[in-house]
Amino acid sequence: MTQKTSAEPTVDELKEKVALSCQILAQHGLVKGSTGHVSVREPGTDNILIRGRPLVDKGLRFAEPSSVMRVGVDDAQPVGDNGDVERIGEIYLHTDLYRYRPDVNAIIHAHPPGVLLCTLNGVKLRPIFSGFEPSAMRIALYDLAPVFDRSITLHTPEETAPFLDLFANNNMVLMPGHGIVVTGRSVEEVTSRALTLESLARINWLAHLGGGAPDISDLDKAELRRRDRQPSSGERKGGGWDGLIAILEHGALRADAIGLGGQFG
Ligand SMILES: [Zn+2]
Repeated sequence: MTQKTSAEPTVDELKEKVALSCQILAQHGLVKGSTGHVSVREPGTDNILIRGRPLVDKGLRFAEPSSVMRVGVDDAQPVGDNGDVERIGEIYLHTDLYRYRPDVNAIIHAHPPGVLLCTLNGVKLRPIFSGFEPSAMRIALYDLAPVFDRSITLHTPEETAPFLDLFANNNMVLMPGHGIVVTGRSVEEVTSRALTLESLARINWLAHLGGGAPDISDLDKAELRRRDRQPSSGERKGGGWDGLIAILEHGALRADAIGLGGQFG
């Protein structure tokens, strides 16, 4: 157990962030109805805060902090009074992954259509564009999203264990005919990462429908790798979170365009 420091967000702030992440994922079409979930570590404890199922569930597009419950990482059991909110079935994707990866602070499991269509049809995520959305292209260039070999929902620690091994060196894994699991250091990072991954998948899927597109040239791949080895000025604070919240507050029920809304860097 780690000590809580004053700089860390409060439980209420984290619950709010989890709910906002759910709303963003729904607005961009990565989840529908009440399926899919977002979680975050509760600082200074062995618990996580995760979106559960409220008695009246309007779905993730309308997720509220009150639908975010506290669950123990060690036994995946609810902790304290969570009201009428029920724990989700695929809880071990979260609890066991937090135990497996102590550096991870936030996890998303979603069922995005682009990834679903690509994995169902054997369409590999390839680097077929660059300047349009470099962060999405890099997932393909560096092969950062391995594919799990099963498509069932994972309801037990035994079913989940082989899946965890794919996270030894990765922050995102594709589940064919099912969805994605994405990890990150914060709710903001993991939300942006999930949007970027789905954006890559949607573009690859649409290019496939259009007859297929070649990879970018070897010359361009080599140049991008060279640029990535250059020292950078550091990560932009907050990433695209503020932009995503602005799109959310704008009020559109869904934002389904390719490219999604996560490209602010
Ligand atoms: Zn699932």
